[in-house]
Amino acid sequence: MKQDMQSQPFEKLWHQLTSEESLSELDSDKHGLDSETVEQRLQQFGANHLPRAKGRSAIVRLLAQMHNLLIYVLLGAAFLTALLGHWIDFWVILAVVILNTLIGFVQEGKAEKALDAIKDMLAPHATVIRNGHRLRIEADKLVPGDVVVLEPGDKVPADLRLFSAKGLQIQEAVLTGESVAVEKHPQPVASDAVLGDRLCMAYSGTLVTSGQGHGVVVATGAHTEIGRISGMISDIENLTTPLLQQISVFSRWLTLVIMVIAALVFAYGYWLNQTPAIEMFMIVVGVAVAGIPEGLPAILTITLAIGVQRMASRNAIIRRLPAVETLGAVSIICSDKTGTLTRNEMTVSAVVSSANTYSISGVGYSPAGEITLQEQAVELEQQPTLTMLLRCAALCNDSTLKRRDDDWLAEGDPMEAAMLTAALKADFTLEELKQFYPRRDVIPFDTAHRFMATLHHDHQGHDFIAVKGAPEKLIELCQLQRTDNGDEPVDQSFWHAQIEKIAAEGQRVLAVATKTVAQHSGELQFADLDQGLVLLGLIGLIDPPREEAITAVSECHKAGIQVKMITGDHAATASAIAAKLGLRYTDTVLTGHELTQLSDAELQHAVNQTDVFARTAPEHKLRLVSALQANGHVVAMTGDGVNDAPALKRADVGIAMGHGGTEAAKEAAEMVLADDNFASIAKAVREGRTVYDNLKKAILFLLPINGGESLSIIVAVMAGMTLPITPLQILWINMVSSIALALSLAFEPGEKNAMHRQPRQRDEKMLSSFLVWRITFVSLLFVIGVYGMFLWTQSQGASLEQSRTYAVNTLVVMEVFYLFNVRCLSSASWSIKQWFTSYIVFLSIGLVIILQLIFTYAPFMNTLFETTPISLGHGMEIIAVGIVMYLILEIEKWLRRSITKKYQTGTAN
Ligand code: ATP
Repeated sequence: MKQDMQSQPFEKLWHQLTSEESLSELDSDKHGLDSETVEQRLQQFGANHLPRAKGRSAIVRLLAQMHNLLIYVLLGAAFLTALLGHWIDFWVILAVVILNTLIGFVQEGKAEKALDAIKDMLAPHATVIRNGHRLRIEADKLVPGDVVVLEPGDKVPADLRLFSAKGLQIQEAVLTGESVAVEKHPQPVASDAVLGDRLCMAYSGTLVTSGQGHGVVVATGAHTEIGRISGMISDIENLTTPLLQQISVFSRWLTLVIMVIAALVFAYGYWLNQTPAIEMFMIVVGVAVAGIPEGLPAILTITLAIGVQRMASRNAIIRRLPAVETLGAVSIICSDKTGTLTRNEMTVSAVVSSANTYSISGVGYSPAGEITLQEQAVELEQQPTLTMLLRCAALCNDSTLKRRDDDWLAEGDPMEAAMLTAALKADFTLEELKQFYPRRDVIPFDTAHRFMATLHHDHQGHDFIAVKGAPEKLIELCQLQRTDNGDEPVDQSFWHAQIEKIAAEGQRVLAVATKTVAQHSGELQFADLDQGLVLLGLIGLIDPPREEAITAVSECHKAGIQVKMITGDHAATASAIAAKLGLRYTDTVLTGHELTQLSDAELQHAVNQTDVFARTAPEHKLRLVSALQANGHVVAMTGDGVNDAPALKRADVGIAMGHGGTEAAKEAAEMVLADDNFASIAKAVREGRTVYDNLKKAILFLLPINGGESLSIIVAVMAGMTLPITPLQILWINMVSSIALALSLAFEPGEKNAMHRQPRQRDEKMLSSFLVWRITFVSLLFVIGVYGMFLWTQSQGASLEQSRTYAVNTLVVMEVFYLFNVRCLSSASWSIKQWFTSYIVFLSIGLVIILQLIFTYAPFMNTLFETTPISLGHGMEIIAVGIVMYLILEIEKWLRRSITKKYQTGTAN
């Protein structure tokens, strides 16, 4: 690298230099850097990422935990008790506040960490040329001087000086605010050109919308234009979803209502019952602590974070948190075929020329296999058309094959790699092929035109074009077909019949064509293909369905979720694969062309009974999502290309491919599939349903306990009776035992029937009538249990401390049994197997039992909380109350289930 580069690496006016000058300034060339230089520059210039905005410091996070109304009330109470010299109360309140804050702090820290880890999984990638080889690397490993390849959908990974551009258009809105993409070219521009006019530069963070280009990295990390503007990325996403927001608004309202009730209770007790103000104040604190579901938002957040983490471990990476909830409501999954439903491990199995059908044996990318004609191995010299076809397929190709021990690995498009394998089976030497027929130009593959073309010359001064692409497209473009005896007019009906035949077996069909050109200018144009293209033949490729996708499709069907295949492939191939996968309606296939002929209303009707959409372009996907949504469905849709972004944005859950997807698709998506596998979508839906259930369970668990406790106090005050549980004891139960138990619900695995029920309605309310009923019913059971035990022991002559200790323990035991009811929302929780699906529940229960034993038997706790030890016999009575509660609730569930079933069969009849 030049001397001045080292001292001031990023300060040149690169746009004013020619591309050659830029490359030489950076001590690089078109073949890229070697590994040693990269290593050394990485040390020198650092990683290519913007400095991360610092997260909140631990102290700030800790203080934020204390920023809530209940804590203020408690601190106020602590202050007052201190003023009055009630030191025990003071210390208990303070200790509980500290304990609760610490629990919240640790939980939130865990949740944030989980999400950070997921963000790292989404680190952007870049395609570079190093040591003359094309590689895909993590974008933060780029260094100045690296040669980067740009393709549609890529996010430019660093500031680049372009040295080649073909139809390269880049959208630079992040830098210039201009949303129309600009066409780039490698020629230098004036030194005073503003950013938007520097057409030979590609800036980090901007988006390639079409074309191809190569550029050399001139600035990385904070030295890029975007780095200078924004300084750092603040990527801290709020840990929230619509449901969580609803709940936190609900909690705030509930807090307000409880404060009002507390004030009324105070007024009632003080003025009407003549209870001393100090005593009433402590009671009111008790009402507040009992009623306000303070721990709920924190528990919901951790439930969500754990769900996101679980999904990531199953290869579904959530980019936007609300998707976790939406996933549980998905009623239609629209999936790409190639690579998602199929394995994308392609093998050429047949070649059809105008005269012959050849078979090719072997599996995978290994070149073991042979080409046969009527079961006889062929001599290639006697098959000029076949030879030309395989040569063109290998030349019109951007993939490479790599041998690792006995394994052959494909790099690039698997379909192209399969063609290289076929060429190897015909004994071509790929390196030689490239040297004999160097490539001069290319029209890259694009889903819009569905073919790829390359221009080559040999060393005898002949130029020719090799084309491969969708067969209908190529038949349309070709006027001639090749035979071993020369060219003749193309026989369209013959070829269409052959295509149908191969496709009906579920094989992917590609056509290959060529054209000899006299002394080409060097720049390949679409117009070059207008005249004189000769069809060489068809290639049939096997791409088997993924076994796990077949299982996942059937699981989705059971879960009331329809699966639709939206593919760019041929209708017959798509339909055959769809049948193998077990999709419902595979006989009718709607093609992209037919789709454009339908009005919105017709399409809305057609989508109901069609599961296979073939030869579609990205804009069709958008119409399909809209039609399905108009039918009231919640739609998940997969996509990979830059043009899929609008459909992904429109879908309720946009899903981008992690391997094969572009950065543009990933950015538009709510979720990224790390393994591009359909089965992972089904798993994510199951996880989505589980998270939603767990959120519901946490609410259903905590609210009745709060309800029961506050009701007990209010009833006592109203009736002028002694409190069955003191405010300090309530503080203990709510902020220690309840939280420990509720937290275990966040870790609950999915219920057995999670994928056996219909998807949730999009607008289903969390606080449904069912939930409101359960909360009320269970609250009453708690009041009866606690009060019953208190009054009964009082009548047996127990002291006030003893009765209260019974009451507190009864409440906690009821909580433990209630936890088992709640773990199965609607199904019976009898099954012992079901009990042991999560060991965390038992950890929490174990912890709570130990805490309760300390609470009851440790002398210092007896002093602090005014408790007394109880006998084993009475302990048994308490457990009996818990069991009765458990049974009542199971009977209630059973009754509900029977009534719903009767109602359903009634309406079905
Ligand atoms: P899916 O949409 O399910 O991923 P697909 O890969 O068939 O399926 P596209 O990528 O849109 O969808 O491809 C459409 C068609 O274009 C293919 O069926 C094939 O005929 C042709 N094609 C795909 N890739 C190439 C390529 N690299 N070169 C030439 N033609 C191609």
